Amino acid sequence: MDWESLRNEMVDTQLIPRGITDDAVLEAMREVPRHLFVAPGMETRAYGDHALPIGEGQTISQPFMVALMTQALELTGCEKVLEIGTGSGYQAAVLSKLVEQVFSIECVESLAARARAVLEDLAISNVAIRVGDGTIGWKEFEPYDRIIVTAGAPEVPPSLEEQLGEAGIMAVPVGTQGLQELRIIVKDKGRVSARNAGGCVFVPLVGREGWSKET
Ligand code: SAH
Repeated sequence: MDWESLRNEMVDTQLIPRGITDDAVLEAMREVPRHLFVAPGMETRAYGDHALPIGEGQTISQPFMVALMTQALELTGCEKVLEIGTGSGYQAAVLSKLVEQVFSIECVESLAARARAVLEDLAISNVAIRVGDGTIGWKEFEPYDRIIVTAGAPEVPPSLEEQLGEAGIMAVPVGTQGLQELRIIVKDKGRVSARNAGGCVFVPLVGREGWSKET
């Protein structure tokens, strides 16, 4: 397979026509080998315009959603980013090309282990993955310049809002378990404001400041 051509086609047909204009984001998505992050046997579908199963009932997000959320973070290269929901590790790998350091939390141990292995194979060394409940954040390394939540929350987890630094931006899907609105939160002089950036569908964020259980 000519994976590079598939990646370029993904960027040219799915991302650019839908308004992804951040060159660094487009470049990162031309680079990261998405087919290595999907479940074995699904490689040829990796560059399609959809989410895909990664095992444990979880999914790797649609390429456009990864691009949209990444672009919304307005990255400049020097950021410390917290991701909730490592999943396959693909979003973390894209971020790793665009920021200084990524901290990512996954609650399913086997997914975290696989994501770590794939990132290591790719020699990506600025992503730290921890197993745990990401709804309460990762206190040790706060504040974060950016936070990205890649699972659907019933409301913005207060701990994450707290751990977002001054002038920080957070992207978080908020809504029901079946449908969410992508919310972009900005912290400015301690005040928090939010705007909506369109509908989306993520697996549920399950944890102390998320859904109590999947239904
Ligand atoms: N960003 C991922 C896609 C994430 S799918 C990628 O690029 O592949 C959502 C992930 O969030 C799932 O792996 C799920 O196990 C995880 N998750 C759900 N609730 C969580 C929580 N409270 N803390 C950490 N991870 C959580």
